[in-house]
Amino acid sequence: MKAVTDITAPEALSAFWMPFTANKQFKAAPRILKSAKGMYYYTEDNKPVLDGTAGLWCCNAGHGRSRITEAVSQQVAHLDFAPTFQMGHPLPFELAHRLTEITPAGMDRVFFTNSGSESVDTALKIALAYQRLIGQGSRTRLIGRERGYHGVGFGGISVGGIPNNRKFFGSLLTGVDHLPHTLNIDRHAFTRGLPPAQPELANALEGIVALHDGSNIAAVIVEPIAGSTGVLIPPVGYLKRLREICDQHDILLIFDEVITGFGRIGSPFAAQEFDVLPDIITSAKGLTNGTIPMGAVFVRNAIYDAFMEHGGPAIELFHGYTYSGHPVAAAAGLATLSLYQEEQLFDRARDLSDYWEQGLHSLRGLPNVIDIRNYGLVGAVELASEPGAPGKRAYNVFTKALELGALIRVTGDVIALSPPLIIEREEIDQLFNLLADALVQGQ
Ligand code: PMP
Repeated sequence: MKAVTDITAPEALSAFWMPFTANKQFKAAPRILKSAKGMYYYTEDNKPVLDGTAGLWCCNAGHGRSRITEAVSQQVAHLDFAPTFQMGHPLPFELAHRLTEITPAGMDRVFFTNSGSESVDTALKIALAYQRLIGQGSRTRLIGRERGYHGVGFGGISVGGIPNNRKFFGSLLTGVDHLPHTLNIDRHAFTRGLPPAQPELANALEGIVALHDGSNIAAVIVEPIAGSTGVLIPPVGYLKRLREICDQHDILLIFDEVITGFGRIGSPFAAQEFDVLPDIITSAKGLTNGTIPMGAVFVRNAIYDAFMEHGGPAIELFHGYTYSGHPVAAAAGLATLSLYQEEQLFDRARDLSDYWEQGLHSLRGLPNVIDIRNYGLVGAVELASEPGAPGKRAYNVFTKALELGALIRVTGDVIALSPPLIIEREEIDQLFNLLADALVQGQ
């Protein structure tokens, strides 16, 4: 067999079927990141690329943190793998316990997964099993939201609301309704922080409840701030109102915090930031700073207790993954949490958020910019789509920004930004200067 040494040779690129990528387009002009340190990626010719996206919303403590990489290499040498089905090893117990230092009060039970998608499907399954366990077996319906992104499992795409992620994959889960999304550019473009209250958006849940009767609904799932669909910030009071309506009808509320978890918006979780206690929180990404795949589902103690009380002497929940609580991932999680705490990175995200907002909104007035949205260290710039070619403008800005030395993320015609929380003010300036140039030169 021929060894392939040149990564850009066609035969080297053909085997890897890339996820969420236009493979033909990419392989005709590949973009390869070779290494990373701190706020920067480095390309094959060692050109630095400022990371405006924390990888894929995950490297909250920046890249190449020795604290994490050392913990990982020590752990892999010490205990590479041990089962967590009817057996235990110390790491996941320790990590779960440590995580309860930052979870909302009363959410002290943790189920480990390997990704955000698995966290979402786990949360939905826990919700359904719990309802059945407490004698509410008629509660089988799930409610998601238009434009919601909850990963790519069948549960996640069923409650999710991004048409391309759903439409090729058959009939999906039955019994799912979708709330309206919360973006209203016509009325609230260029809002800084939370858009004004729009009670009708959360109240739409009452309509769905009326249609099916609350006694048939198991859970509502939303991203507190929707990320992958283009950064949708919840209007004032929106999440609280959802909680109220769920409480009135004993419906569980799930926050998908795969993006908002681990300090991205200043608090450990959006639940604390917006002072709304969900029943279940899903997470992944920032849990291990992106170094080793891992997700976690945080569950209200009362839900776990119900399984322990009513579950009988046998296995209480028939669910889990070979790698739930993997020792190497857990070691990465422990080191990451220590870094977050010692460097107070969540506070840092909050402290920088005004400066971030100012810089981001300075892009207003550049070609085709029709909205700018932000909260914490999340931002989005939305462009007017080119007629007949949606997504083209943002894609061109993305490639231009990369050429100029910044990694940004685009979905459709929205540019999404979420830098590592270690970013310095000068790097915020640098990011927005590069993006401004890309917006002017790239379109
Ligand atoms: N939920 C949300 C809110 C996400 O943003 C993502 C990933 N962007 C996921 C779930 C899925 O996570 P993963 O890609 O790790 O499966």
